[in-house]
Amino acid sequence: MPAVFFGHGSPMNTFADNAVTRAWQEFGATVPRPRAILAISAHWFINASAVTAMERPRTIHDFFGFPKELFEFEYPAPGDPSLAAEVIDTVDPVWIGLDRDSWGLDHGTWSVLHHAFPAADIPVVQLSVHAAQPIEYHVALGRALAPLRDAGVLIVGSGNVVHHLGVLDWNLAEEGFDWAHRFDDTVRDIMTSAPGDLARVAEHPDVTKAVPTPDHFLPVAYIAGLAAATGEPAELLFQSYAYGSLSMTSYVVPAAA
Ligand code: ZN
Repeated sequence: MPAVFFGHGSPMNTFADNAVTRAWQEFGATVPRPRAILAISAHWFINASAVTAMERPRTIHDFFGFPKELFEFEYPAPGDPSLAAEVIDTVDPVWIGLDRDSWGLDHGTWSVLHHAFPAADIPVVQLSVHAAQPIEYHVALGRALAPLRDAGVLIVGSGNVVHHLGVLDWNLAEEGFDWAHRFDDTVRDIMTSAPGDLARVAEHPDVTKAVPTPDHFLPVAYIAGLAAATGEPAELLFQSYAYGSLSMTSYVVPAAA
């Protein structure tokens, strides 16, 4: 099974029809049907690694200031408690907690999956992003998840490599600032040559602008780890920008031949 990282951008992409949402649709329409999806979303950023383990994860509307239709949106995919247990066993001795009643599916996950798998009939488990751990931890955890790919699980990272909401420029609908390009290009070069070395970007001169908080960046580290586990670099799906300070750049780790 391939693994993929998508830049998700605005929650309004749930209802949009643009180049990015069409790429999500095309990915879902062409990927072999997975038995389940393990989603790593920027929006479940807590001080632990945890997996959702409920039969019916709720749709979480974790934003404010958006139209009513977005708050009423539901993505009713079932959960998969057995996959949650399998994740825990697969990455042992790394500790992952079981979340039976706290989280669910947040918009980092459902804004993308609504386009890729609109029927919402494939079970989805979310894995949190551990807020207190460095990039190396997330790359290593991604690497440890690799056996799940061979077991029919589609691993989807959802965040943004460059994500600085404080300096968004609404006049730059599909453009990026120079520093956004520089940082995104460096990540692209690492992802497509030596993804296991992703932690090098912590030294990048533009890192504090591109990644003022690590939540949206870290999901790509899991896909870097999965690529490193195969011994092959990740492939660039597309590279694009939104509002100056977001990159929508996305990567795929192809299925093993
Ligand atoms: Zn987001």
